[in-house]
Amino acid sequence: MSEIIWTDVGRDTARLLSRYIQIDTTNPPGNERKSADFLEGFLSSRSVQSTIYTPAPGRANLLAKLEGDGSERPIMLLHHMDVVPANTERWAEEPFSGTLAYGHVMGRGAIDDKGLGVMQLMAFGLLKDSGVTLKRDVLMLAVSDEELGGKCGAQWMVKNHWPDIQCEFVWDEGGTGTLGIMGDRPVFAVSVAEKRGMIVQLMAKGAGGHGSFSANSPLNRMVSALNRLKSSQWPVQFGEVTKSFLRNVSETQSFPSSWLVRNASMPPFRSFMVKKLASIPVINAMLRDTVTVTSVQSGAGMNVAPDSASARLDVRLLPTTEKSEFLRKLKSVLGDDSILIESAEPPPKIGSSAMDSEFYEALARVIYRRVPQSIVTPIQTPTGTDSRFFRQKGSQAYGLLPAVLAQADLDTIHGVDERISIANLELGTRIIYETLLELCA
Ligand SMILES: [Zn+2]
Repeated sequence: MSEIIWTDVGRDTARLLSRYIQIDTTNPPGNERKSADFLEGFLSSRSVQSTIYTPAPGRANLLAKLEGDGSERPIMLLHHMDVVPANTERWAEEPFSGTLAYGHVMGRGAIDDKGLGVMQLMAFGLLKDSGVTLKRDVLMLAVSDEELGGKCGAQWMVKNHWPDIQCEFVWDEGGTGTLGIMGDRPVFAVSVAEKRGMIVQLMAKGAGGHGSFSANSPLNRMVSALNRLKSSQWPVQFGEVTKSFLRNVSETQSFPSSWLVRNASMPPFRSFMVKKLASIPVINAMLRDTVTVTSVQSGAGMNVAPDSASARLDVRLLPTTEKSEFLRKLKSVLGDDSILIESAEPPPKIGSSAMDSEFYEALARVIYRRVPQSIVTPIQTPTGTDSRFFRQKGSQAYGLLPAVLAQADLDTIHGVDERISIANLELGTRIIYETLLELCA
């Protein structure tokens, strides 16, 4: 195979992303069938056959495979084809135009998750063209429905077609490289675990009455309970992933800050450091269970104290928190036995993926080679991803968009003017390709 000209690859990846973004896969409803057909077209142009699965009308999941000799277990490149809605009025460009300008590709999904998808697709195509004998199968899976929980996507595939997709390693979304957020070195945060989302409903009922003399109405009791919830602090846990993260990012700090961050879990500085670290929301989310009130409903009449009030909580449990233990604490924090608590079942407790696996070490080696001075660290993501379905089956799943993003780029994820640079598309494709060579050749 002729030598790869990476600047050309970056440009081709950008063009592919632009076309991919133009297929509107806003979920709901998703309509990912169109994007699966598009990906199938790209793969067949590289002489790779793919299979499209149909979980529901209009929905689709696509699987392609490069065969290995079977001496090692398969690796999977995973991304989701659906995107979250875009509020067109606030965007500088039409969100589904896929505009290429100023060295960037703009549009909904540019980062989450079509950007990762095209990097994987291009690396997959390059690996096929290389003609290298592979010691393991390389699978490429594009799924629907991640943004709304994966019922038609990854969850459906794992439940109904596990023999087709079982694998040792999964490369998914969940982490990314950043610059200028933690110190002045690039930090690549690889997700090895994630919080477990759980919706909790609160309900207060009782006598309402005239608005002039109903101080103990259900709504007032709910407001008081939510106020206690808001001012409460959930216990801190320094899990293995969090400790490893702090050790790694301490290298971005100068002394004595570096020492304090590295030893944050130890007395005598623990409570001081917890306060400091918890002021950064994403680190706070790694340290404890979090609870956010996402809805409060009650009342209709201007001068009527309503006879019921409800609230909805978005709860994110640490990988090790027991649901029953959390609900017991929640009840005591709310401090009102008349408020009913109902909760959905959170995803099961799952251990984190190994921080010293062949995959993790190969990925870190390639990143250090491509981005000298960078730091590679495991993290636990506050959000849920499709990785959980694979971890539940025993696969080691890792989340990383191999790009270097600034805070301004991160703010566009699920937000306005989502974009990714062509330089990042080139870098990401190269990191994926070289990591696959390390693991499969
Ligand atoms: Zn995503």
